Amino acid sequence: MAPCTEAVYLHDASLRTLTTEIISHQPVSSLPENEKSLIKNADPEVSAITTRQTILYPQGGGQPSDTGSIALADQEPTFTVSLVRKTEDGRILHFGKSADPETLFVEGQSVIQRVDGAKRDYHSRLHTGGHIVGLAMELLFPEMRKVKANHFPKEACMEYEGLLYNEQKPLIQAKVDELVQQDLPILITWVEDGSDLEGRGALRDGPVRVASIGGLDQNPCGGTHVPTTKLVGPITIRKISRQKGISRVSYEVPLEV
Ligand SMILES: [Zn+2]
Repeated sequence: MAPCTEAVYLHDASLRTLTTEIISHQPVSSLPENEKSLIKNADPEVSAITTRQTILYPQGGGQPSDTGSIALADQEPTFTVSLVRKTEDGRILHFGKSADPETLFVEGQSVIQRVDGAKRDYHSRLHTGGHIVGLAMELLFPEMRKVKANHFPKEACMEYEGLLYNEQKPLIQAKVDELVQQDLPILITWVEDGSDLEGRGALRDGPVRVASIGGLDQNPCGGTHVPTTKLVGPITIRKISRQKGISRVSYEVPLEV
């Protein structure tokens, strides 16, 4: 069985380049159906690379995919990564195009991965921003259960069971501003037994990765974060909306800080 990809971004979200090794490189058309479906409407020149390790974040957990490149060591990038997805068996597929579509990397070749840093930074700030909104909500409305988190640009929101109204927006905004100003650290830990975290995120067998803002909350999370709350920049609570008993708190963070 093909080995899982070692997800280096889970342990160090600051890396922007990594030297690693090619495991496979194949046209999308030769992938099994369930893996082909991870990329929509791929043109024939798109191929998929797996590597022993990766610093590129695969779409999931409410966070969009990274983009970047893969190149032979000491050479200009030859493969542009446009989408990263995780397979059911834990391999991470880097979809993209080669400068020369005829040439595929070969198993065992040493390559350098690069992450598009500005985009990653924005995604990390959006993700941490979501956790800050989540903590503000936990502190203000502890009885409201979180049901969904989306950290995509232009769509970022946190959703809760129960009803919230526009009158509560200034309250949430003030609490969020306070948490940003406090410049609290984002702490990542691994918990062997995540059973007391049940209902607070997807649980899997084995250790659960937990993100916490200054020890004030505990969220199972596989995403990338900035090191402290202030690094998110000013968070704007855009609006509060309601549908079928679910309230949505939409937010945004600046593109650059
Ligand atoms: Zn998260």
